[in-house]
Amino acid sequence: MAATVQSDVRVPAADPNHAARAFLVEGVVQGVGFRPFVWRLATDLGLVGRVRNAAGRVEVEAAGSTGALDAFARRLRTDAPPRARVERVTVLPLDVEAATGLPTAFEIDESVVSAAVDRLFPPDIATCDDCLAELFDPADRRYRYPFTNCTNCGPRATIIDELPYDRAQTTMRPFLLCEDCEREYRDPANRRFHAEPVACPACGPRLAWRATGAPADSATGEAALSAAVAALRGGQIVAVKGLGGYHLACDATDDASVRRLRDRKRRWAKPFAVMVRDLAAAEALCRVGALERRLLTGPARPIVLLEARAAAKQILARSVAAGNRRLGVFLPYTPLHHLLLAQLDRPLVLTSGNLTDEPLATDDDDALSRLAGLADGFLAHDREIRARYDDTVTRVVARRESVVRRARGYAPEPLPLPIATPVPLLAVGAELKHTFTLARGTRAHVAPHNGDLEDLATHRAFTDGLAHLSRLLALEPEVVVHDLHPEYLSTKYAVSRFSADKRIAVQHHHAHVASCAAEHGITEPFLGVAYDGLGMGDDGTLWGGEVLLADLRGYRRLARFARAPLPGGALAVRRPYRMALGYLFGGEAFDAAEPGMPDAGDAAEAFLAHLDPREVTLVRTQIARRLNAPVASSAGRLFDAAAALLGIRDVAEFEAQAAIDLELAAADRKAEPLPYRLRRVDDLLVYDPRPTLAALLTSGASAGALAAAFQTTIAVVTRELLSDAHARTGVRTVCLSGGVFQNRRLASGLLRELAADGFEPYINRQVPVNDGGVSYGQAAIAAARLASGASGVPGQEV
Ligand SMILES: [Zn+2]
Ligand SMILES: [Zn+2]
Repeated sequence: MAATVQSDVRVPAADPNHAARAFLVEGVVQGVGFRPFVWRLATDLGLVGRVRNAAGRVEVEAAGSTGALDAFARRLRTDAPPRARVERVTVLPLDVEAATGLPTAFEIDESVVSAAVDRLFPPDIATCDDCLAELFDPADRRYRYPFTNCTNCGPRATIIDELPYDRAQTTMRPFLLCEDCEREYRDPANRRFHAEPVACPACGPRLAWRATGAPADSATGEAALSAAVAALRGGQIVAVKGLGGYHLACDATDDASVRRLRDRKRRWAKPFAVMVRDLAAAEALCRVGALERRLLTGPARPIVLLEARAAAKQILARSVAAGNRRLGVFLPYTPLHHLLLAQLDRPLVLTSGNLTDEPLATDDDDALSRLAGLADGFLAHDREIRARYDDTVTRVVARRESVVRRARGYAPEPLPLPIATPVPLLAVGAELKHTFTLARGTRAHVAPHNGDLEDLATHRAFTDGLAHLSRLLALEPEVVVHDLHPEYLSTKYAVSRFSADKRIAVQHHHAHVASCAAEHGITEPFLGVAYDGLGMGDDGTLWGGEVLLADLRGYRRLARFARAPLPGGALAVRRPYRMALGYLFGGEAFDAAEPGMPDAGDAAEAFLAHLDPREVTLVRTQIARRLNAPVASSAGRLFDAAAALLGIRDVAEFEAQAAIDLELAAADRKAEPLPYRLRRVDDLLVYDPRPTLAALLTSGASAGALAAAFQTTIAVVTRELLSDAHARTGVRTVCLSGGVFQNRRLASGLLRELAADGFEPYINRQVPVNDGGVSYGQAAIAAARLASGASGVPGQEV
């Protein structure tokens, strides 16, 4: 546009109090009602001119009194709509030609397409209060219409094909506006002015119901909704098409129904999230703090992990979250959810529409075939889902939000990189809880959670998501960042698509702790505590219990947990008792005079006696002959071993389950630490956990008391490792990261204790502590290395 101009030409030239100016507004300003807001503001201030969407920003040309123009510039920031995020307003004088071409009133131009360097677009937004009131108002023309939305709410990221964000470039394209909607869409004073997904019963998408296996839909609209409600009341499982994918729904108060869902989904243990009608219903189930209340009712509507009340047991079926004191709870975020929950008036299990470990179903045909064995019926509609977005999962740790799974409502809003990347880059992440990150300048766009990258379906979801996001952002990566593990599908992708000089390899745990540092803007050296499942170290062994001196470019290892074999490799992750045997028979020995575990005598015999003797023999052989028994210094695997020795968990359904179980078993008990040893090996301080594990067997205290004592021990050991690290380096900043810190007792306890010890401790807040945060950490490291001209060699000195 004609905004790069010489002088502040006045309009009319004779009036010194009049001027014409251009305003370039950057940030999240499209799809959030920004242009109507500008229109109202300009009109209120008596300005003439125009506003339009350019790729990635909003451009305004306005003329009027200088006082009004000043106020306008100020209020663009202070009065912006709730979901907008104004990052920068650039004010430029407008040349005489452009100024004389301005309209005589204030107008909204259709969007212009231009080359994008800085594209941002908003996440999906939960139904606003105004739309909700219309939904339940019998006099309103959108009464009970499940696709009601306005400029303040509705689908965004999940329906956008291309930027700028305009109806014609969304999956709303096939729905031609009716006269009434057209009028609202064109009226700058209307709440639906340029609400791109605007729709009504006359012109918008429609619900459809189909019983599983039926050749065609048997009901549409209100009848489809009634059919779904009847099916749910009857204990059936219903696939419900949502914003970013299909959900599977069932009555959360009907145990048989929930158990059927578990069997079909092959998800036997992991608690299900529950959608409840409103905040009061959430508070009947769980204790809800002030921040948790804001998260539950905010525009993103994530699943919030909450502490269940005793009364939850009377309300919910046992199999929703058997034995778990934490419940994942969320509130309706689409009009369809509001209608379903209001009609059923009971909590619904609402879980991702997939078989465990598969990507979320988004395409209708794909959903019909893939979910046929899981759902009894389908409540779908004819608005396409363009991008897959699972529900975000979040929680509060030490009085602040800490995201567990970042997706709908959060992604793809960019996170800042403390050091700008000189070239656009792609960080492909790790394997479990996979995400990738596209970065340009100081912006890191972390893609939504994509499940475990272990098979073809998830790999396709990854490459589809990557193609979509890089097109929307107009970001063609020149450099790729990947994990050191050569067998990760993400690493293989990087190696197959980019030549060696365009690749940067980053050690897994360096990426973890860097993700925490980068979030908090830390660019100076820090002490990184990575307590994790497994990641490839730079010495060919697996790591996961490490203390690093790090910055965003490199790291040096200062301390680690002792190593133990993983008998059977990946199988050991799913069978914690194998890890217990690994420590019992193959734990790292430091001293020839003291080769094995401290004697646990009869207690060890009793532990072995409850296992299958053939399995014990097999594992002992694997350890003795080092057959498929890689060694790891992993904190996550040590938690597994402890859980098995305490009889809390022999078999794990998912990574980190044992760490979570130990926390639950410990409840709120206070405990003294168990015995432990620290040893100096070469330049490293090493925690030898064998005395700790022996005490678990011999102590005789209850499993709950010992679970508490074990966690106290890990916290005490961590403080000792850090105290030694501080003595050697003088560094006081600590970044905690890695999947083990999903254990909230350990995380919040350490944050408190380390602060008391004089450290400045941080933990991940905006990206997960688990592997979902790795791609962001990779991006931050690569940016820092590229900016400093350093090579991509991992493990370099800080
Ligand atoms: Zn609305
Ligand atoms: Zn309409």
